[in-house]
Amino acid sequence: MERTLALDCLQKVGQQATLLGWVQTIRSHGKIGFIDLRDRSGFIQIFVTGEMLQGITPESVVKITGQINKRPEKLINPNIPTGEIELSAQKVELVSPSQTSPFPLEGEGYDIGEETRLEYRYLDLRRNRLTSNIRQRHKIISFLRNWLTDDEFIEIETPILTKATPEGARDFLVPSRMHSGNFYALPQSPQQYKQLLMVAGFERYFQIARCFRDEDTRKDRQLEFTQLDMELSFVEQEDVMALNEKLLISLVEKLCPEKKIQEIPFPRISYKEAMQKYGTDRPDIRTDKKDPNLLAFCWVTDFPFFEKADSGGWTFTHNPFSAAKPEHQEWLERGENIDQILTTQYDVVLNGFEIGGGSIRNHKAEDLEKVFEIMGFSKEDISKNFGHMLKAFSFGTPPHGGIAWGLDRLVAILCHETTIREVIAFPASSTGVTAVMNAPTPAEPEQLDELGLTLKPKKSS
Ligand code: ASP
Repeated sequence: MERTLALDCLQKVGQQATLLGWVQTIRSHGKIGFIDLRDRSGFIQIFVTGEMLQGITPESVVKITGQINKRPEKLINPNIPTGEIELSAQKVELVSPSQTSPFPLEGEGYDIGEETRLEYRYLDLRRNRLTSNIRQRHKIISFLRNWLTDDEFIEIETPILTKATPEGARDFLVPSRMHSGNFYALPQSPQQYKQLLMVAGFERYFQIARCFRDEDTRKDRQLEFTQLDMELSFVEQEDVMALNEKLLISLVEKLCPEKKIQEIPFPRISYKEAMQKYGTDRPDIRTDKKDPNLLAFCWVTDFPFFEKADSGGWTFTHNPFSAAKPEHQEWLERGENIDQILTTQYDVVLNGFEIGGGSIRNHKAEDLEKVFEIMGFSKEDISKNFGHMLKAFSFGTPPHGGIAWGLDRLVAILCHETTIREVIAFPASSTGVTAVMNAPTPAEPEQLDELGLTLKPKKSS
């Protein structure tokens, strides 16, 4: 299809061109009028006659042929990239008409109800703010991919239909048809597979990984979210932290030149100090909270490995696969001073949000086993749930560690958004209903039969 983009018209002044796109606005002055025509490059003003506007509604797709002209001096708009030119239309064809949009697409759209915005998300996404957010998200992800690839990482996909990995949230279960009565779990993170990739010898892995956690939706959480997940072999805590700090700084410098990082190197705060000084393990250390361009990163380290569970036993605070700090390794091995064992966990915090966290792992089977023993797992339970890891670790396992970034949160902060839903193309609503498609929906009786499932009324919780 022969076509010129709005922005490319700048190079074609005096020439004929055919443009295709959406009618952003129509300004009719009787015999003459103007259309702002939008495409992926931006928009351009089209000069039309009154007749050409017949049947044309905002947001319709049109094909316009005409001549690109310089605008008269007094009509130049210096605020838009195509402000010095316009297309003088000779022909306007309606390619696909649009009904009236259920809400205005101009403006920020924050005041429109979430339900309507998500029902018509494809329209909401035409809004300039959301288009820019999604484009910025793409730039960030592609920057990360290139940077890590240049640093000898390789991107590897891990399964979505898998077995539960404890990350502290509820699992999503998927019933198996072929193994009736059995269930897959959607990954809360690729934690176990990325460690298995270290056993396999890849040494430097990353993935833009989708993760699923069945927990209540909040401003910075939803049922599925995206992590930049990485794992490295033959590293210590310092190596992983230094690499990630460098990557975050490069990302901000390259893609958010208007922002400034408050302090480099990122300050490091122990969990104890953070709790004493700020009452939270995600301290917002910005010196000026009103400055929208200030980014205050910090690392939080030295977390307790275990905490008391509701049941009275011990549970992990962050990640059961983590190693203890080297000076507490013996306590872990002997099961002593459990409340005082610190983990190698490091969290990276930005403006009061935890945007990443990771640790050095236990790469010896007996140490990993010990963690589960402390948490009260029987030998049989350990072998049933994690026997595959213990087995893998008996085949030559490099010392390794990694981290995962909450990419949605990071992108939201870099785009000045307060909820991650503003930087996800099709987010679920605050009650977990998916955009446009309205899932979850009931299954057909035949589907349940095939899966060998019968539904019974849910006990009230
Ligand atoms: N799997 C961890 C998480 O999702 C991150 C990590 O330790 O690498 O929080």
